[in-house]
Amino acid sequence: MLIAGNWKMYKGPAETAEFCVELKRALADLEGIEIAVCPPYTSLAVAVQVLAGTDIAVAAQNVHWEAEGAFTGEVSAQMLRELGVYGAIVGHSERRQYFGETDETVAKRAKAAIDAGLSVIACVGETDEERERGETEDVLRRQASVLEAEDNLVVAYEPVWAIGTGKTATPEIAQDAHAFVKSLLDVPVLYGGSVKPENAAELLALPDVDGALVGGASLDVESFASICLSATRS
Ligand code: PEP
Repeated sequence: MLIAGNWKMYKGPAETAEFCVELKRALADLEGIEIAVCPPYTSLAVAVQVLAGTDIAVAAQNVHWEAEGAFTGEVSAQMLRELGVYGAIVGHSERRQYFGETDETVAKRAKAAIDAGLSVIACVGETDEERERGETEDVLRRQASVLEAEDNLVVAYEPVWAIGTGKTATPEIAQDAHAFVKSLLDVPVLYGGSVKPENAAELLALPDVDGALVGGASLDVESFASICLSATRS
């Protein structure tokens, strides 16, 4: 069971240091689950430093496929490893929607990161329109087909209509999608999309849900810690 917090573009280094000190305290007695936080690039170093010696891992929100080169604005897996970062999210729907991320670039990022020794959380999920048109399985098949099942790969099923909207997938929708993704790729599958302390236990108890990728609710220590606690009971 993995609970990962995607902070998106929130929390600079000072806020990150404060948050990680509190998180460390809040989760000190938690056992049996994996926990990761994914701060913005500029806050990774301080998160690694404050969380050193704990079981809370630090991951980035994206990673480039080349080790170095003329790729303005990008950061490589090797650079993340040098910081002590353990992994990276790739293919988040916000990257696909706003920054031209495609299945091909997601595949390149995932492969290069895994080859460089990082763990990867690769995001897949359908939009509202795609679900309405009955295309959910086609979309998931297309997005998963470019990924290779590897030890360090985790997929996050994040229906786009549930991200940051307060709309959570019903347990039936989540379970069906997770089982479908697992029929394509034999890897753990996290659920993401408006996970909160109030709905975490129900979602995490589903047979094919192996954890959660939490956005908004991971920005508050108390609510993130409460979701992590629900995971230990599932
Ligand atoms: C996310 O950003 O991956 C996410 C699932 O966001 P939220 O929990 O806010 O819907």
